[in-house]
Amino acid sequence: MITISAFTFNPFQENTFILNDETNDCIIIDAGCYSSQEKAQLSSYITEKQLHPKLLLNTHCHIDHVLGNAYVYEQYGLKTQMHKADLPTLEMAPLSGKMWDIGLEDVPEPEEFIVEGDLIEFGNSKLEILFTPGHSIGHIVFVNHQQKFVIGGDVLFKQSIGRTDLPGGNHQQLLNSIRTKLFTLDDDYVVYPGHGPETTIGYEKKHNPFLL
Ligand SMILES: [Zn+2]
Repeated sequence: MITISAFTFNPFQENTFILNDETNDCIIIDAGCYSSQEKAQLSSYITEKQLHPKLLLNTHCHIDHVLGNAYVYEQYGLKTQMHKADLPTLEMAPLSGKMWDIGLEDVPEPEEFIVEGDLIEFGNSKLEILFTPGHSIGHIVFVNHQQKFVIGGDVLFKQSIGRTDLPGGNHQQLLNSIRTKLFTLDDDYVVYPGHGPETTIGYEKKHNPFLL
């Protein structure tokens, strides 16, 4: 049984997730911790729950989703695993940092890449990967079919969708990713987005103004 813990971090109000199961192995997805307080919040949670971080993953590599990657590497020796197609997004992150006046520590260079069809395994748990470009060029989401949830990054939000005006963004491609990948999941799958509250596939099919 996977427990999902969400933390809203950094000036962009980005959702960072820690997933653990009964073995206490855990994974960190989209580490956005930025201030020293946020970093302490992440590691205190891991310490208090006696979790063992096994993987750092990124749905995509916009600055708000990688602000904590250096910290996770320092603390736990984990470099992110991501889709290779999103490397240009990661390479752009320091420039975005300058634009927003946000100091980005050097993100440790990823060594392992993941693609649609790969299985992420930790403890007794498994996550499937779907390739969902459009918000960024190499965006992926993580799906658990046993408990019916998606860690969705910035693809589908509650009654909204990810922006597509940044480099690598493509509105039609994003709509296509949602319709052909996410909307093929059952209505009761819960989506945990990179910003804002959770939602379900069924709710968004009925109420999302971008997809009606
Ligand atoms: Zn993003």
